[in-house]
Amino acid sequence: MPRLRKFGSLGVKYAFPAILLAGCTSPVEVPLQEADILLLNGTVYDGTLGDARIADVAIVDDRIVFVGDAKEANYSAPVSLDVTGKYVAPGFIDPHTHYDRDITPWANDPDKSLILPAIMQGVTTVFVGVDGSGHPAIGETLSNAEKKGVGPNVAAYVGFGAVRSMVLGYSDRAPDADELGTMKGLVSQGMCEGAFGLSTGLFYSPQSYSTTEEVIALTKEAAARGGLYDSHIRDESSYTVGLLGAIQEVIDIGDATGIPLHIAHLKALGVDVHGQSTDVIDLVEVAQSEGLTVTADQYPWVASGTSVSASLLPRWAQVGGEEAMIARLRDAEDGPKIRAAMTENMRRRGGPDSLLLSNSTKDEWIGKTLQDLSEDWNVDPVEAAIRVLEQGGAGLASFNQSEEDVKRFMQQPWVMTSSDASGGHPRKYASYATKYAKYVKKEKTITTTEFVHSSSGLVADSLGLVDRGYLKDGYYADIVVFDPENYAPRATFLEPEILSVGVVDVLVNGEFAVRDGEPVNSAPGRGLKHMPTEGTCE
Ligand SMILES: [Zn+2]
Repeated sequence: MPRLRKFGSLGVKYAFPAILLAGCTSPVEVPLQEADILLLNGTVYDGTLGDARIADVAIVDDRIVFVGDAKEANYSAPVSLDVTGKYVAPGFIDPHTHYDRDITPWANDPDKSLILPAIMQGVTTVFVGVDGSGHPAIGETLSNAEKKGVGPNVAAYVGFGAVRSMVLGYSDRAPDADELGTMKGLVSQGMCEGAFGLSTGLFYSPQSYSTTEEVIALTKEAAARGGLYDSHIRDESSYTVGLLGAIQEVIDIGDATGIPLHIAHLKALGVDVHGQSTDVIDLVEVAQSEGLTVTADQYPWVASGTSVSASLLPRWAQVGGEEAMIARLRDAEDGPKIRAAMTENMRRRGGPDSLLLSNSTKDEWIGKTLQDLSEDWNVDPVEAAIRVLEQGGAGLASFNQSEEDVKRFMQQPWVMTSSDASGGHPRKYASYATKYAKYVKKEKTITTTEFVHSSSGLVADSLGLVDRGYLKDGYYADIVVFDPENYAPRATFLEPEILSVGVVDVLVNGEFAVRDGEPVNSAPGRGLKHMPTEGTCE
């Protein structure tokens, strides 16, 4: 029986009251409710782990005002779309991307700030400043993004690497008390300007030169302001402290500061640690049972994206930057030591056959493995890598994980979807579509409900986004409508820059970014600011 809905919000009017028969006695008036957009009859996955249901979604301005039976509630709208058979979900929130450069004022391609690789997969919010890269001027980063015009919303971290290099350059020493004070000030500046937390990339030079104590001192600045600690951990493999040692370091940082912890692009990288997903999960679950908040994100690929230098060079060889590194390679004493370390790192990552050049100024290298180059040049694979380094380096797709570990991580309720979007790897254009097409539909590793939840509600809750991540009334109208039959990746390792297909409509803050499968070149994204804990910023 139709019921009189609660009303009183904007958009309610009585101009044409519908007369409905309640039983066969007195008529009940349902006031006409006006929305801007109606999505009718879709299969709604609302971002929770609850069952999907057939429902309508009404949008007024930038908010969802109703999810349910629009006819019964007497909604009408000038834009009313029948999405029967399509899935309607909260717009996906990508917790780990490298779109930073595309949203700066000096980025030379204005189309890039629309971030179509993400939008065309249904991603409506992206996090930048990850891996320790985020500049402390968060306010400026976000306002520049809005001025330029962004497709999805943008949220940012303040990055440890940016902070450390501003104060210590690429030196491998600890900061003195003054320098540490300056670094703390930069972290608190970022937090007070709206950063969601402190990001680190302890694997990378110069962040790798830090001790855990230094990281803890800076993390306290983020903790005090209600932020989280997001980390590309010190070792995802067996380089230094090992995968488990690096996870333990994250937990130690949480123990010392009480901050919620987030592990970026969780993986067991390299042959030495295959199978350790089980031990990682155990470590995390023990920490959770002891009261720490620990979450992680994951991109759904067995290959990671890295560079020849980051994957093969020992960190000591990079102290002082690229020129110093090249000089050491040519040094009679250091050169052989670097070569020995590179040989070992190549083995750890599965050999030269599993290292595919994917991004370089030299087109002729792209699509070749280090093994291919070594055969072309008639040198051993390490020498081939050195030639690449001497000519400016290159991006690599490094095939280094096992499917078992990828799937085991994916099935954990605290692991969310991410892309780690960067050039030279299909993950930028295809992570969400791949997770759905491969791991939901084909392999049945997780359900559609889990896919949507781990790409929306879980992310919003874990990272602190307010009123986003769910299809509920009152929430922002960040919405994706996709075709369950056709939603799929098109990008490959050899052609990583092809947009995914199957997304029908995308709304960001109630505005269309995709309509009927085509981008509409609008820029409805906003800079999203984390609100620091009251009284912790001037
Ligand atoms: Zn990373």
